[in-house]
Amino acid sequence: MKKHINTLKKKLKNYNSKLNEECGVFGISNIEDASALTALGLHALQHRGQEGCGIVTFDGKQYYSEKRFGLVGDNFNKEKILKRLKGNFAIGHNRYSTTGSNTLRNIQPFFADTNAGGIGVAHNGNLTNSIYLRNKLVEDGAIFYTTSDTETIVQLIAKSKRVKTIDKVVDAIFQVQGGYALVMLTQKSLIGVRDPYGIRPLVIGKLKNSYVLTSETCALDIIGAKFVREVENGEIVLIENDKLESIKPFPPKKARPCVFEYIYFARPDSILNGKTAYEHRKNLGIELAKENNIDADIVVPVPDSGNAAALGFAQHLRKNYEHGLIRNHYVGRTFIEPSQKIRSLGVKLKLNANQTTIKNKKIVLIDDSLVRGTTSHKIVKMLYEAGAKEVHVKIACPEIRYPDFYGVDTPTRKELLAANKTNSEICEYIGAKSLNFLSIDGMYRAIGFDRRNENYPQLTDHYFTGEYPVKPVDELGDNKITQLSLLNTTSNN
Ligand code: AMP
Repeated sequence: MKKHINTLKKKLKNYNSKLNEECGVFGISNIEDASALTALGLHALQHRGQEGCGIVTFDGKQYYSEKRFGLVGDNFNKEKILKRLKGNFAIGHNRYSTTGSNTLRNIQPFFADTNAGGIGVAHNGNLTNSIYLRNKLVEDGAIFYTTSDTETIVQLIAKSKRVKTIDKVVDAIFQVQGGYALVMLTQKSLIGVRDPYGIRPLVIGKLKNSYVLTSETCALDIIGAKFVREVENGEIVLIENDKLESIKPFPPKKARPCVFEYIYFARPDSILNGKTAYEHRKNLGIELAKENNIDADIVVPVPDSGNAAALGFAQHLRKNYEHGLIRNHYVGRTFIEPSQKIRSLGVKLKLNANQTTIKNKKIVLIDDSLVRGTTSHKIVKMLYEAGAKEVHVKIACPEIRYPDFYGVDTPTRKELLAANKTNSEICEYIGAKSLNFLSIDGMYRAIGFDRRNENYPQLTDHYFTGEYPVKPVDELGDNKITQLSLLNTTSNN
């Protein structure tokens, strides 16, 4: 019996990990070439997910949908396919998936016909009560077509007894919990939703008279749209006839955007809270330097994730910044690979030591974060093999000790190095001469907040503190068995 329960638990773990998606969303209303503009927006958001992409459009009469595995540039690059996506209204999605089977049907946007008309939904984030809701919906007779938590939202919208689509959306949103940013396309409107804490990002832009909703401002820049503002936490924006209406159905809450967007996730040129992510990351490097002065010959970033922090670090201490590692740009992000074995191979595929620059040098190696330690372990070894005298690793964020449940792909606690090892044990594991992390105070200062402020915490920072603003109901609850049978069905596809 115990063995059986363990097998079920293992299956459940795989099932849950499928739900964790980072992803990028884009939507544009009332404009010619909506599908091409959406493809460009998704291309700018490619760093948020490379597994699959999709676009749904509406031409006033009918919806059109195209979904593909792989990159936007490889799939939405032909006039023929963009022409098939007719209409002046479009939404799109880049999918990031962690492990397990991956089927075309899990690629978004999703589409549903409701009694108020069709609706397309693109979602970035992760619902923390989706298994619970899904079980209830299945008990009530709902049939699920995908393993994605986004379908739960679609089903809730379709099931709502309210008459107007926007009311159906509000109905659905009231039931879901977690971190989410949604862009939806109805027959009359473009709708954007950001979760009550604003954990996942969503911004508003304008191109001529048309509104744009997207995950990051870099997707506005690519199409020449102007940044208007962020969608506020807990806000729903309804865009109809080139007018934007703001709806705030939730009791007001303090905004707590995800700190990992600042540290790693957002593209460096995207604006977060008034500054580019690049500037925030340079500040993380400056705070790291203030806390950890060191006598070294050169400062070397782990490209590209450590570039900005290393520059801030080097400039603050007036040290030489050198590219001691060269990156092959034709390899995706290391994390994208599904298994640990392939993942560690990926580091070698991606980076190589720049030999003459590092030979006999005392190096400070800077990265944005340390998760499983795979990257640092490989790189430190690589630098020593190429002749480095000393390698001191400095990480521009605090120790990651707790997993994420709101849409960022972090492993379980068991795999998080800092959750299980002391600083000196980690240092020994990665083979460095010394190792330092930025303090939580330093991280807050770098991003422009103060931990002593009564408003603290101004960010969702559970990675370091274990304090989760939204309880992960599915993780804690007893809602899992129904899902396991579903897992068996879908994994055969
Ligand atoms: P690790 O090699 O497991 O220690 O992971 C750290 C490396 O992965 C760093 O270079 C980060 O830039 C990168 N990283 C951190 N978090 C994520 C994430 N959620 N998705 C993809 N890459 C990540």
